[in-house]
Amino acid sequence: MKVAINGAGIAGTALAYWLSKLGHEVVLVERAPELRTGGFVLNLWGIGYDALERMGLLPRLLELQHHSDELRMVDRAGRTRGGYPSRVLLKLAKGRMASLARSDIAAAIYGSLDGRVETVFGDSITAIHDDASRVHVEFEHSPPREVDLVIGADGLHSRVRQLVFGPDAAFEYPMGCHVASFEVAGYRPRNGNTYVAHTAPGRYVARFPMRDDRMLFFVLLRDEHLKGRIPTSHLERKMALTDALADMGWESAVIRSALQQVDDIYFDSISQIRMDTWAKGRVVLIGDAAACPSLIAGEGAGFALAAAYVLAGELHRHGGDSGAAIARYQALLKAPLARKQKQAESLAASFVPRTSLGVRVRDYATLLMRLPVFPKILMGRYFHDEIALPDYGI
Ligand SMILES: Cc1cc2nc3c(=O)[nH]c(=O)nc-3n(C[C@H](O)[C@H](O)[C@H](O)COP(=O)(O)OP(=O)(O)OC[C@H]3O[C@@H](n4cnc5c(N)ncnc54)[C@H](O)[C@@H]3O)c2cc1C
Repeated sequence: MKVAINGAGIAGTALAYWLSKLGHEVVLVERAPELRTGGFVLNLWGIGYDALERMGLLPRLLELQHHSDELRMVDRAGRTRGGYPSRVLLKLAKGRMASLARSDIAAAIYGSLDGRVETVFGDSITAIHDDASRVHVEFEHSPPREVDLVIGADGLHSRVRQLVFGPDAAFEYPMGCHVASFEVAGYRPRNGNTYVAHTAPGRYVARFPMRDDRMLFFVLLRDEHLKGRIPTSHLERKMALTDALADMGWESAVIRSALQQVDDIYFDSISQIRMDTWAKGRVVLIGDAAACPSLIAGEGAGFALAAAYVLAGELHRHGGDSGAAIARYQALLKAPLARKQKQAESLAASFVPRTSLGVRVRDYATLLMRLPVFPKILMGRYFHDEIALPDYGI
């Protein structure tokens, strides 16, 4: 088959890996001028971890892990108010969990394609005409192509989804918060391998030490702290964050000043994508484009990796019958993803509490994670995948 994949993030590169391995002719189209960097460190466990292992990328990626020994919650004076050792989470994942920079995952997968996949950077699919036997695809810059299958792997604000299924508003469920992440070189203090977080009502800021003396910052803001303006340009993002971090206490003054040197800020709404179907004819969505669970659910990258393996595996198993393969891909993954999204809804309020009391209760509650049975009671269900990856022999 000839397959056009729009988006070279985690889902797009992973699907390109499997399809090219199975002998299909893939063109990967990425809007950015090169593979995107940036974004924060993700924990991969369960089926996402299994999918990486099946790609043979686990040993390399485990070397690139970012280790944190402890998650610490501090108040505005920097005093510890909550937190627990990171090994608690590793134990819940039965030792099969990796903390990886999002960009390292995408780069490792892309690197493993080894030139087998044609990649067009700085371009995007702009029109799709599906005549049921072939799909005519147009691009912003490249000449049009005829393909057998078009994949929308272009993230939360997927262009393919907009073109074929309708506007974002029909499928996007904003969770009332925005997320930002950025890196700062030489930031002090570092506190060894500790993830340190501070929450003020409606605002959360955390720092995570990375390799090469870099510090990763992660900010969550309830939408009311953006004062009705969603920043789009880099400068607007910087200003919005500088504004939002004012008077937060802890290290917020130092972080605001460090922010002035930052040249890449990831900034997006925390939203879910909920759709009745992920496919229309020969156009299929995958990853965040299909069913973003949101960072609150915490397994978006894992599900993207698993979905790429399942979609490729089902296409392989069903030979030329792509309709049956796509139906099976959805049948396997839709229900677990819907439940993951439900879990995120119930966690959302405790992520960034609205009141000082809420923050204090949440911080103290995390201390329970230090006791023997509580991790399983409080977090066990988030580490349990209801499905196992099928074995496609690929
Ligand atoms: C730069 C970046 C930083 C991120 N940082 C975080 C983070 O800090 N926290 C978090 O929870 N999640 C983050 N995410 C999202 C997270 O990585 C995804 O939820 C998850 O990995 C699912 O992967 P995906 O491949 O479906 O989507 P994504 O990883 O979002 O990948 C989508 C890809 O499609 C490309 N694309 C978008 N529109 C078009 C278009 N019109 N044409 C062609 N290509 C297009 C994007 O540039 C991107 O490379 C980030 C994503 C990106 C792109």
